[in-house]
Amino acid sequence: SPRLRFAPSPTGHLHLGGLRTALFNHLLARKWKGKWLLRIEDTDRTRFTEGAVDSLRGALEWAGLDYDEGVGIGGKHGPYTQSERLDIYHHYTKELLSRDEAYECFCSPDELQAIKLSLHQQGQRNSYDGRCRHISDEERTRKKKAGEKYVVRYKSSSQDMEIPPDLIFGDNQPSAPTSEFDDFVLMKSDGWPTYHLASVVDDHLMEITHVLRGEEWLPSIPKHHSLYKAFGWKPPQFAHLPLLCNPDGTKLSKRKGDTFVQHYMKQGYEPSALLNFLALMGWDYHSALSTQTTLDPHIRNDGHSLYELFTLDQLINSFDINHVAHRKAAVNMSKLDFLNKMTLRRMAGRLGDDGLMVNAGKMSHDHEKEQEERRGLIERFQSGLKDEKALKGCELVDNIDYVEKVFDAELPRTTILNEMPLYSIFYFLPPAYTCHESQSILKDLNLRIYSQYVTLFADTLQSHPSIRNKSLDVDTVWDVIHHSLDQLKLDKKPKLLVPIRHALTERKKGPSVPELITILGLDETLSRLRKGVE
Ligand code: GLU
Repeated sequence: SPRLRFAPSPTGHLHLGGLRTALFNHLLARKWKGKWLLRIEDTDRTRFTEGAVDSLRGALEWAGLDYDEGVGIGGKHGPYTQSERLDIYHHYTKELLSRDEAYECFCSPDELQAIKLSLHQQGQRNSYDGRCRHISDEERTRKKKAGEKYVVRYKSSSQDMEIPPDLIFGDNQPSAPTSEFDDFVLMKSDGWPTYHLASVVDDHLMEITHVLRGEEWLPSIPKHHSLYKAFGWKPPQFAHLPLLCNPDGTKLSKRKGDTFVQHYMKQGYEPSALLNFLALMGWDYHSALSTQTTLDPHIRNDGHSLYELFTLDQLINSFDINHVAHRKAAVNMSKLDFLNKMTLRRMAGRLGDDGLMVNAGKMSHDHEKEQEERRGLIERFQSGLKDEKALKGCELVDNIDYVEKVFDAELPRTTILNEMPLYSIFYFLPPAYTCHESQSILKDLNLRIYSQYVTLFADTLQSHPSIRNKSLDVDTVWDVIHHSLDQLKLDKKPKLLVPIRHALTERKKGPSVPELITILGLDETLSRLRKGVE
């Protein structure tokens, strides 16, 4: 059965490209009913960063990408950290040495530099001329005894080699060498293996059938294939994932903080939205759609479509490695915001309620899971409210039913859950009418008229027949609004609604006035209306 692996180097936080590689491993392993493992490739000691492994694992856990074997959970093919496998790499280096497929090279860095320079001056592309191949046995023994440092190099052959097509790049990849290529290093002088040796040995011993990794490793393919051949091992299938780039085609820069997964964790994006977003990077999902639905993808005018919305399970079903294109994948952040917004609505069980949004009709309706996701969001919202300084000591925040109503009212305007508490303060605290927004609204209103309208509305509300039986619902409030409009001889609703909204919230925007009033309740509504015109 298929076995895949995600093999990051612990050089810092996980970046978006790394998470996408992990995701594609996860999707294929689950789709094919195989396994995937996490291997830590820490043989480059110069780039090792303390804490990087924990940070990587934390990001995978946050994303919900649970691997089957590997660092932290173990398995039959361990250890899964390369620094704990050095004796294995030595064993296989010796094997190649004894079979004359490798040799010791004693050239110093200065010599290597000079060799490279002279090769390049002669118009050669190689960096090393293989001169240590010809050292005699006695000479080698003498040099070793004298303590001279050496590396072990692979003895490249000039034979042509058949390289099977890449699952994504097809034959569009570096070809096998027709002339000798560099005798590349397998074992460094400090006793640590190079990436090439360690990765080939591990992929073989860990019985990996499919290697998914970044496009930057495509040039290594001839080296890896020649190593598999030298060992007499069957190579896995390779799939190189196209690079992520900025919308203008430039390389996604790691220097900007927002290429790290940690950034999105901190901002409060939903992990499933980020995975959804990354899955669309390079994967042509339209081909998956045509088999799933006969409808035309409904593209909204901002260029995003609900057809791009996938849960992890839906991705597992639809994802197809054959439909990953090898062109660079542009990262469009507005797409992530769109997906996060829609993901929140879906998790809240509200997607499709809005007339503008069409339910793609292929959502899973796992009721219990939906309830749990919805509860999780509301609890996170409540804990965000508790962290708001302005709401310290406010008892209403503990009222989960009230918090839930506010959550539903604010959801249509929410992109990221973390931004919701700040925008929701006015549901919990009466406005002070001193903020900038309030001042600017008042400036546009005639104060005498403002006060007249709001007072009339408050009186009409207070004396409405249904209010006496304490039933305040949206229809009742609309009734009161229409009644007030008639009495004031106003033809346009906003003329009345803007002043009311200001008195209630000191804002220009928000949920509809009737919805707002049913949430605040009659007493709070009347008190705000009266106070607003004092
Ligand atoms: N350790 C390599 C990296 O982090 C991965 C290469 C591979 O997957 O073979 O880029």
